[in-house]
Amino acid sequence: MTPVPEGLLFGVAGIPHSCPEDSSLRAVEHVLQSGLEALELEFVQGLKMGPETASQVKQASRRHQIRLSAHAPYFINLNAEDRGKRMQSQDLLLNSLRLAAAAGATDLVFHAGYYGLKTPEETYLNIKDSLREILSIARSEKIAARLRIETMGKKKQFGSLDEVLSLCRELEGLFPCLDFAHIFAREGRVNSYRDFYQVLKKVEKKLGRLALKQAHIHISGVKYNQTGELKHLNLEESDLRFDEWLQALDDAGVSGTVICESPSLEADALMLKNLYHNLREKKPAPQPR
Ligand SMILES: [Zn+2]
Repeated sequence: MTPVPEGLLFGVAGIPHSCPEDSSLRAVEHVLQSGLEALELEFVQGLKMGPETASQVKQASRRHQIRLSAHAPYFINLNAEDRGKRMQSQDLLLNSLRLAAAAGATDLVFHAGYYGLKTPEETYLNIKDSLREILSIARSEKIAARLRIETMGKKKQFGSLDEVLSLCRELEGLFPCLDFAHIFAREGRVNSYRDFYQVLKKVEKKLGRLALKQAHIHISGVKYNQTGELKHLNLEESDLRFDEWLQALDDAGVSGTVICESPSLEADALMLKNLYHNLREKKPAPQPR
């Protein structure tokens, strides 16, 4: 296996705006030309990619050395009132994982569901049961992609930082997708170097050092109110302190992938990548003992 590089790779969620074609295959090559390193394939409106395209996307990602992840459909709800709908969501998540692996994605990000009429405790248990089943099937099929449960920005959605970390701690094979715009919008206060650093230390404490060394992160600007996230914004239009956030990621020694979900996609992703490499260059070299 190729060793995972130290540090962060930057990429976009979905096909870059400057990509001349609306195709995932073309997007892989275009991400490289844009100076980025990662791409999250969007299965958010359904699993429309056929097996042949998936195989071509996988080959292209290897050829261009682009790190691929994927995002499962938005309509998955592992806490649906209706049992049939819950079963459908389980199937859909599993099929998303199979497709992600076929397309060469190492990780599949998903939104677990809504509380609906249930308490947070009941919701937690329902989602845990569903995920346990999915993970067990994924293991028996040896699917080569990790399941990443996302921290969610709306308070009606399951997925506070604590819920996500507890589930990942309980279920072997489940990993977090840390969406810092969502954490900020939901908690309302996580917006300084110290806050970001504390979130990262909490992840390390709950899940171990490896969770920071193989992190999968989402970022964008965000508009929010007391219900949490309203919509994504470009970083400069938002009050999210992304420079302090990047510094905290670097100081905490985080490695892995940062996927930018700003409306501007590649423009913000490139801005973050440049900022990150600038602050790393400025860092004094460690002194010999
Ligand atoms: Zn998401």
